[in-house]
Order: sequence, then C-alpha cells, then structure tokens
Amino acid sequence: MSNSTPSDRGAERSVNRPGMNVRRGVCLVLAAAPGGGKTSVSRALLDSEPELALSISATTRPPRPGEVEGTHYFFRTQEQFDAMAAQGELLEHARFLGRSYGTPRAPVMAALQAGRDVLFDIEWQGHRQLKARMASDVVGIFLLPPSMAELERRLRGRATEAEEEIARRMEASREEMRHWDEFDHVLVNNDFAACVAEARAVLHAARTHRTRQPGLGALVESLLR
Ligand code: 5GP
Repeated sequence: MSNSTPSDRGAERSVNRPGMNVRRGVCLVLAAAPGGGKTSVSRALLDSEPELALSISATTRPPRPGEVEGTHYFFRTQEQFDAMAAQGELLEHARFLGRSYGTPRAPVMAALQAGRDVLFDIEWQGHRQLKARMASDVVGIFLLPPSMAELERRLRGRATEAEEEIARRMEASREEMRHWDEFDHVLVNNDFAACVAEARAVLHAARTHRTRQPGLGALVESLLR
C-alpha cells in the first residue's frame, strides 16, 4: 500500500492508463478459394477499419495490369525472394501455382507491438505457418463461395486470365477449400455486406481478448486497490 492520497492515486492512474491499455494488435488472416471474394471483402474491411492495415506480401509472380510495386505486392525475382527467406525476413512463405509468396516479418511485428491490426490476404499454407509460430496472435477467417458455379463465374470475370489459367485456379480453389477446417471462423460469401459485417465482428471480438490487453491485470489491481 502506498502513502499517496486518493487524489494522487487518481493522477497516477490517469498517467498509467494509456500505457497500460495499449493492446497488442490482431493478426487477421482472410483466406478463400481464388474467386471466393477475398479481395473485395478485404478492401471493405480496410476501408471501414482505420486501425487495420494490409500486410503487403513479396511474390515472384509478375505484376498484373494495374498492380503497383509496394501497394499490391513487392515483386521480386526468385533469387531475391530466396535470399529474403534465408535471412529470416519472412514470417511465412509458400508456393502457389508455381510462384513464391511470403509475408515480410518486420512491418507485422512493428504493427502488433504498436497495437495496430494486420490483415493477411494469404493462402492456407501461410495461415498454417502463422498459426504454428504466433498462435495467440492469429485469428483465421475462411470465406466459402456460395457455389462452385459462382466461383467459376467470378474467376471468368477476371478478363485478363486465359482458359488454362482459369482451370488451374479452379483446381487451386478446390485445394484451398479442403483446408476450411483449419480456420477459427468460416463465412459463406453469399451476401457481401453481411460477410463484411461478420468479418468486422470477428475483428472487434478479437481486440478485446484478454491476452491482447497486457495491462489488464494492473488495471484491475488498481481498480480494486
Ligand atoms: P494472387 O497471385 O492471385 O495475387 O495470389 C495467389 C494466392 O496467394 C492467393 O490465395 C493469395 O491470398 C496468396 N498469397 C498472397 N500473398 C501471400 C503470402 O504472403 N503468403 C502466402 N502464403 N500466400 C499469399
């Protein structure tokens, strides 16, 4: 017990409170079959959640029309990518349709410590690695398409892709969907607005998890004093 007066203790608390309440950010992984609506849902999440930032991946695939270096991906040669992986600069990495994809580690760690949330648009192997390495940070959402016909329709809507590429992506979609049960939350994307609302609800609930509020013990102690 300190000798301070109640008003001193109040001042102490108000000084400490901001520091005590700095929460740890959430690693929100959004996975889906290609064409499952992941990009639209993640865009809507980022637009509506100012504390959420997208993790920009490195990849060895070439840019699609309109994709910008450092905004959509960091486009790297295989040699550059392998060097990043060898130097431990990637939090996870995986092969997808013959190309490498990986998450740069440093921006994620900085964001989590500062209490900012990070959104990962990655596939199941990356999610599995993140879960293994950062179990208490990661919350996984898997988006299911309402039907395979709808999935194919969306894939065909990407005018830039050739027939052969669509077939490969459909197979990749099936492979992705086989891993639905590794995720904490599963949403069926048949109503876009509802899906976004549900994903936001998952994020909001994750923020208040006691393990993300390291100052809670001290706060409760001070409340009980
Ligand atoms: P796309 O080539 O269509 O941009 O992405 C192909 C797949 O790779 C998507 O499922 C996407 O979510 C995934 N992906 C993108 N970045 C990463 C990453 O950093 N790590 C992993 N494991 N997958 C990624």
